Amino acid sequence: MKFGGTSIADQHCVNNVAGIVVTHVKKGFEVVVVVSALSGVTDQLLEASEKAKHRTLNEVLEILSTIEKRHLALAKETIGDEILRKETTKAVSENLEELRKVLTGISYLGEATPRSKDYVLSFGERLSAPILCGALRDHGLKANYYTGGEAGIVTDSNFGEALPIMKITKDRVQKIIGSSLEAGNTPVISGFIAESEDGSITTLGRGGSDYTAVIVGVASESDEVWFWTDSDGLMTADPKIEPLAKTIPEISFQEAIEMAIFGAKRMHPRALEPAIQAGIPVRIRNVFKPDALGTLITEEKRVKSEGVVKALTLSQMLR
Ligand code: ASP
Ligand code: MG
Repeated sequence: MKFGGTSIADQHCVNNVAGIVVTHVKKGFEVVVVVSALSGVTDQLLEASEKAKHRTLNEVLEILSTIEKRHLALAKETIGDEILRKETTKAVSENLEELRKVLTGISYLGEATPRSKDYVLSFGERLSAPILCGALRDHGLKANYYTGGEAGIVTDSNFGEALPIMKITKDRVQKIIGSSLEAGNTPVISGFIAESEDGSITTLGRGGSDYTAVIVGVASESDEVWFWTDSDGLMTADPKIEPLAKTIPEISFQEAIEMAIFGAKRMHPRALEPAIQAGIPVRIRNVFKPDALGTLITEEKRVKSEGVVKALTLSQMLR
């Protein structure tokens, strides 16, 4: 189950997500959670690294303080148990301290390489995962959190848009996440980030948490990968333009990819590739309507229909 940034944006959202995960674990599902940064945080980190590059440390520290307040408040609001809350706050504060050091370093150098930018961007997901994990534990689940690298995702060194090395990743994820599940835990993995073979933090490209979820789903041989998002699934048209737009119950991988590329910007463009190769279906579901089934993206032969236009998307060119 992957949860995007708007699904965990505030206290109400985090409780909602924890409820969804707990319900499924109680029903007997083995759930692996992948989580994005809180909405807007990756953009703030990007801005902070730009400002650091231009040596405006005061503005950098201002952004940092906004990020800090938001995460500490969320941990406080979503974790009732005092010991759990302290543990989580400590982990979050340690990450924030590390981020402050990295950004200070960049602002002294006046230079941000792709590698250091990925390092900065990684903090969004490194801050959100401990909080969601804490909230799950507060709801009575056994849960652990992992960065992408800790979960076993290994990529090339193409910083900013790294590609997974699936063979190594599969072995590692199966070992690490497999044994976590076997011990009765619900693993919570930071989306978007991974590690190169030499141990540097990499990112998979914007929107990369979808990609993480599919990589982990394939590596751990899941039955399905679910993207929990803030919409009803893939729609026949953009509901902001066409109020009569409907959710598409089933669609093929190829059709979904065309939609992602041509404007129905719902996912990372490469996210589905490992799922197609492994034949693992992906479902897009609305986190605020957990009873609705959303859209199932699956193999062509299961959803074949001829002479039908399934969706319209709009792609605008900027002049
Ligand atoms: N936090 C990252 C981004 O904003 C990854 C994601 O949300 O999927 O691009
Ligand atoms: Mg996204």
